[in-house]
Amino acid sequence: MKNWKKFYWLLIVLIAAILLLFITFDKNIYFISSGKAVLSKDGHLMSLFISKDDQYVMPFSFYKDYPEKFKECVLIKEDKRFYYHPGFDPISIIRAFIGNISGQKRSGASTITMQLARMRSLRKRTYFNKMKEIFEAILIELTNSKKQILKAYLDQAPYGMNIRGVGTAANLFFLKDIDELSWAEYATLAVLPNNPSYVNFVVQRDRLRIKRDELLKKLLDEKMISLPIYKLSIAEKIPEFKKNIPFYAPHLCMSLKDKRSSYVIHTTIDMDIQKQLETITKEELRALKKHGINNLSVIVIKNSSREIIGYIGNPLFFDLPNDSMVDGVRASRSTGSILKPFLYALAIDEGMILPESILFDIPTFYGPYSPENFDGTFQGVVRVKDALIRSLNVPAVRLLQSYSVNAFYYFLKQAGMTTLFRDADDYGLSLIIGGAEGNLREISEMFCSLANGGEFTRSKILFDEKSYPKKSLISNGASTLILDCLKDLSRPGIDRIYAQLGYSNQISWKTGTSYGAKDAWAVGSDGEYTVGVWSGNFNGDSSPDLTGSRASAPVLFRIFALFKEKENGFKDKDHSKEFSEIVLCEKTGYRAGPGCEKTITSKRPADAKLLKSCPYHVRLPYNKEKNEIVCSSCWQGFDYNLKSFLYFPPEIQPYLSENYKKDLIPKHNPLCPEIDHKKSIRINYPTDKAVLSLVKDEKIAIRISTNQKNTKYFLYFNSILLDKSIGQEVFYITPKKGKNIISVINEKGDTDKVIFFVR
Ligand SMILES: [Zn+2]
Ligand SMILES: [Zn+2]
Repeated sequence: MKNWKKFYWLLIVLIAAILLLFITFDKNIYFISSGKAVLSKDGHLMSLFISKDDQYVMPFSFYKDYPEKFKECVLIKEDKRFYYHPGFDPISIIRAFIGNISGQKRSGASTITMQLARMRSLRKRTYFNKMKEIFEAILIELTNSKKQILKAYLDQAPYGMNIRGVGTAANLFFLKDIDELSWAEYATLAVLPNNPSYVNFVVQRDRLRIKRDELLKKLLDEKMISLPIYKLSIAEKIPEFKKNIPFYAPHLCMSLKDKRSSYVIHTTIDMDIQKQLETITKEELRALKKHGINNLSVIVIKNSSREIIGYIGNPLFFDLPNDSMVDGVRASRSTGSILKPFLYALAIDEGMILPESILFDIPTFYGPYSPENFDGTFQGVVRVKDALIRSLNVPAVRLLQSYSVNAFYYFLKQAGMTTLFRDADDYGLSLIIGGAEGNLREISEMFCSLANGGEFTRSKILFDEKSYPKKSLISNGASTLILDCLKDLSRPGIDRIYAQLGYSNQISWKTGTSYGAKDAWAVGSDGEYTVGVWSGNFNGDSSPDLTGSRASAPVLFRIFALFKEKENGFKDKDHSKEFSEIVLCEKTGYRAGPGCEKTITSKRPADAKLLKSCPYHVRLPYNKEKNEIVCSSCWQGFDYNLKSFLYFPPEIQPYLSENYKKDLIPKHNPLCPEIDHKKSIRINYPTDKAVLSLVKDEKIAIRISTNQKNTKYFLYFNSILLDKSIGQEVFYITPKKGKNIISVINEKGDTDKVIFFVR
């Protein structure tokens, strides 16, 4: 009875001890921390970042499970009765024990669970430690499922160097994911965790091969593989075990790694495109370096989904003397002419212009500021389309002046530019010719939005990123008109080579070069994709070859050639519903008015404001024989007919082509009794070459005198039509610092011009 009581107490203590152990046992079976992986859209490994404990290990959450075939392969090698034992395998232990006593070396007594227990802390292989492992293995089995145990083992299995986990080994040794491996590769990965040092030494590879082939033989015996597969498998070479750590789109991956907390970062990158981009841009940058251009960046966005599918921050990541670690896709750089298409599109929606409309390209003064074209020449009169594709600065600046700097600035912010850190007034008119900075991602996003019919929104880089709200900032029709203009290949600096590439007129593209040739942009869309290219030097060096068309456009076209293969040609959308018909003055490209003689029918965006009517034409009685204007006071019977003439400001005349010159108003009949042979119109104030001292924004009065009280006249201030008037003689203007021009022309064709200066 007493003995029974003793036994009873002993049992209680024992159960309590086991319970205590069980309760306090840390059931966590992960003993290293997870690495961070960045994946392409289709799940391929783009970058693997080392874990906190300096291991290359795929994130544990990356593999939900491993392929059944591979798991069986591992179990046949390591632990045949894994699914049936309680953590240790008595049969194996007895066999190993007998083996040890009889002097034969036999391994395999450790189950998968025991090997997992051993990963917790590295211990010497003694009988006592083996007992501890068995005990821990039992506790692991009690607290985790078989599936969890096997996965934890495969997630953390050692592969030599500092590589852990079968998925990591598959990616780094074989450059494949685990489900893409051959049987020979499976067998290699099953053998290695017990002999991880094999990967370090070339001499060990023969021994590894023997072990692998032994396992393959077992697989054959177990009928897991057929004889032909067995023969093929043993013929496969053992790889060289280089640590091939993938590092695609390094700038992108590093920034995502730092920003995202999750271990698996799934992007929208198209691995196929990304690999080709990395090859192309490396080649292109090496060529650019010969011209003193050391940095190149590329982004590719899929138009329909707004997903970023290709990203090159800098193709030569380790070109450290040239700031190669700077991510050129996100760097703020001077925008050059790259924003011009948006201004032209907005002006179309405002009814200010159409692609056919004329703009003045003449010396223009905004106080001390006088924009110049890239080549230093002036065209006089230029069509909107030509001004855009030739990227003329003067017409763009003049258009911005009419459109409003503030409104354009507001548009740029709405459209997604986050790089405008100054006020609109600070930028002023230079906003349209590179005064502001932008980054490649945002500018390419804006082109992508233009290609999406003017629906502006951000691009996406993460696979599960929600779409951003869309803002309709430009009409579908205006977007289409501008993109059509930008398909033209006849522009300066473009060699014949592009026309020979076989996809002329299918890509809408624009280049930009910043002041002093420091940044070269080329951005374009083929309907399916938007590609943005920037080249330059982060150290600020310029190069005569650093222009959008010479440095960046060739890269742009090479990239579009990739899609041509991929997409099998470009698609053209049906745009017919976006437009309505409009009759234009042929000569000026504005809506035909009563003064316009020749007209053409064109299209305008259905949603745009009605285009302004032609302000330049007037019909006057004209004596063709004498080439004179006549009036009721001087015509003789019917010696005249009504003919259209152009009112242009006098200062434009030196730049006019014959085509326009012949339509200017001829002189009035000198025998006309009405005509005063003195000047019929004069600017009295300011006087010519006057220097005025004014405070900022001070207004001054322009005083006109005319002896033709009933004659209409046109007053231009800095070549912008101020007013058409009859009779009025005083106008108020706000001149800017520096040079200002006032000019006037009346229906008689008389003109006067005054240049004055403000300090
Ligand atoms: Zn007209
Ligand atoms: Zn007359």
